Amino acid sequence: MSDQKPNVPLFDLTRQWSEVCDDVHAAVERVFATQQFILGPEVAALEKECAAFLKVKRAVAVSSGTDALLAALMTLGVGSGDEVITTPFTFFATAGVIHRLGARPVFVDIDPRDFNLNPRKLAAAVTSRTKAIIPVHLYGQAADMEALAAAAPGIPLVEDCCQAIGTEYKGVPVGGIGTLGCFSFFPTKNLGAFGDGGLVTTNDEALADRLVDMRIHGMRPKYVHHFVGGNFRLDAIQAAILRVKLPRLSGWIAKRQAGAAHYRELLASAGLAGTVTLPAELPGRSHTYHQYVVRVPQRDALREHMAKEGVGAEIYYPISLHEQECFADLGYRKGDFPESEKAEAEVLALPIFPELRADERERVVAAIARFYR
Ligand SMILES: *Cc1c(COP(=O)(O)O)cnc(C)c1O
Repeated sequence: MSDQKPNVPLFDLTRQWSEVCDDVHAAVERVFATQQFILGPEVAALEKECAAFLKVKRAVAVSSGTDALLAALMTLGVGSGDEVITTPFTFFATAGVIHRLGARPVFVDIDPRDFNLNPRKLAAAVTSRTKAIIPVHLYGQAADMEALAAAAPGIPLVEDCCQAIGTEYKGVPVGGIGTLGCFSFFPTKNLGAFGDGGLVTTNDEALADRLVDMRIHGMRPKYVHHFVGGNFRLDAIQAAILRVKLPRLSGWIAKRQAGAAHYRELLASAGLAGTVTLPAELPGRSHTYHQYVVRVPQRDALREHMAKEGVGAEIYYPISLHEQECFADLGYRKGDFPESEKAEAEVLALPIFPELRADERERVVAAIARFYR
């Protein structure tokens, strides 16, 4: 296009930086002065504050969302010969950790309304080897936890909350509904560190105690190892920065939700309501809009058109996990999970970060409207 307006970015952390910069500087200076970099009081304080925010008994900070999932499965004793059920429509880490432990990822197709593990298809996939189930609260919308639990009674649910910190299911924050909850503090997540970080939550004190040891090679006391864990430690600088951001998280989520409501109005008044399928807001399941994902016809051409107009958009995720080369030996074929495959061809994430301005959302929708005209 010939207009000279600056691009509308899919995501831009520099706008948040100006809001938190003074407090972050003070927080990291505090850590520098102690020269204590791994775990320690900053991490312990973050864990307490996260547990309060998420309304869980215990929160154990770890090195990433991936390691949160890995440590959670290790804590449940998942290993060779076991099966763990999850969705094929998620970030790779959800299934990668299952495979890394020698267990078998068993995929169950998604519900097309919320893109999450479909409870109505779950029971048929449960076997005597099923050791755990990992529902993902994809894009920030809660999976149907009660229906999942009812479809697989007695099997631990490990919630992948990496995109859903602050999301609620029937008024209860995710991460405290299943047996364990796993969170990511990757910089682009709704609560992002300045590097990698993660968190495991639980209301089970025994599991939490085991996680605390799991994170330091199964060690207690020093140099005595009862089981094999890993180095899943969070460092103090990340914890100090996250403690600056956590009190602001609810406000940022509210801005994402307001942005989503604005998109709904804009798309309707542009006459696009019949063309663009908006994210469903299902009863009892809050949506914190880590991503604002629509379904659209001619998705790839639309995305190219938007790029030409200087408007960011992204595809989460273009290849379902059962189609990934590294999982070829699982024996799945194209066609096995039709809803996941349909989603991978239709989904498009529009810019939704808290600092995105109303005029920028208007430009996003105007670009979409020009494509379908
Ligand atoms: C980001 C993410 C992860 C992994 O988190 P990292 O901190 O990047 O290791 C796992 N699952 C989902 C659904 C994610 O979005």
